[in-house]
Amino acid sequence: MTISLIRNGTLIDGTGSLPVPDAGVLISENHIQAVGRADGLSLPDPPITEIDACGGHILPGFIDTHVHVTIEGINIARDMATPFSLRFYKSVEYMRRTVEAGITSVRDAGGADAGTKQAVDGGVVLGPRMQISITPLTITGGHGDFWMRSGDEFHVFPSHPGLPDGRCDGTDGVLVKVREVLRAGAEVIKICATGGVMSPTDHPDFTQFSPEELAVIVREAAYRGGIKVMAHAQGTEGIKNAVRAGIHSIEHGIYLDDEAIELMLEHGTFLVPTMIAPIAVLEAGEEGGMAEHAVTKARQVVEAQAESFRRAHSAGVKIAMGTDAGVLPHGTNLRELGLMVDAGMTPMEAIAATTRTAAECLGWQDRLGTLEAGKLADIVITRTDPLGDIRSLDDTDNILVVIKDGETVKDRRKQAR
Ligand SMILES: [Zn+2]
Repeated sequence: MTISLIRNGTLIDGTGSLPVPDAGVLISENHIQAVGRADGLSLPDPPITEIDACGGHILPGFIDTHVHVTIEGINIARDMATPFSLRFYKSVEYMRRTVEAGITSVRDAGGADAGTKQAVDGGVVLGPRMQISITPLTITGGHGDFWMRSGDEFHVFPSHPGLPDGRCDGTDGVLVKVREVLRAGAEVIKICATGGVMSPTDHPDFTQFSPEELAVIVREAAYRGGIKVMAHAQGTEGIKNAVRAGIHSIEHGIYLDDEAIELMLEHGTFLVPTMIAPIAVLEAGEEGGMAEHAVTKARQVVEAQAESFRRAHSAGVKIAMGTDAGVLPHGTNLRELGLMVDAGMTPMEAIAATTRTAAECLGWQDRLGTLEAGKLADIVITRTDPLGDIRSLDDTDNILVVIKDGETVKDRRKQAR
């Protein structure tokens, strides 16, 4: 049995409790055996492998609850000319960058199929632990429908044997589509309950799917061992419809009003803010291949989104960190934490949203999200103190060590000395 001890670092355990200096984390195989002050841990007889945290900070592996590991940027001209299979090879690099940023678990909000997940779980490629949705369900002409008014079809997530087309309409149509994505291996159902920034023929404020359709989707998913539904929901009415229907998490949540916040509190709905996403669209700009309609809409939503976040947070809505990585470059995910702090969270709250609360959003709180005895050994060691400088996490060179499932998958300590 392999036993390792991480020492010489300050512990931030993900629960939101005060940091523990001179901490130790004892790892047995792929589980955490004990956590606390290093001099207070009862150590088994040698041999123990020591992992020197180099005076840095020891945290749970970070969790991003909204990524797309199979895409990076949406450039219609480029993507229409790209060979189909190249996306799979490229996603290998995206997933490696995600892990090297300290993200050891993700929820894929569309694009990753069962084979992508199996490739990671089977050790074929390095990537984060994944909860997958296969493809987002969308109404015809909705956020997930990239039919262009030229008459051509663009597919952000082209359908293939592992990934059915996501378009569906009417209570019968959505029922069949939920069953199709479940058959393909969906572990969470992703739907588009409103329009959005990237889509060519709608607007973030447009309501999509009727309350009747939403009810069918939520009920059918629940029948299959309690599968949850995550909703891309930006406009106020679509957000409220989704929350009332029993949707588990509101993605983006750009236009929240008081009633929407009340409803979310009442239903225990998670908010996954993705404030970095429209900023990344603006940074890439039309020069970076973003469509003109996307840049225009991104500019319209940035401030509203931060304001909604501020109000949801002060009202006590559960907030799980999510970025929409894929719209932004993979590996830049932790920039979201700086934005969360700008919009009213303390650095400790932003970290808890990226660890404990994110694990709850995925339903994985029993095995991940905090550094406690019995949990899986997903651990990050940072060179800097994220409580003193949350934006130091933006630089992946400050992510010194990443341990996933007890295995060290990144180690930059030599270069740091
Ligand atoms: Zn997304």
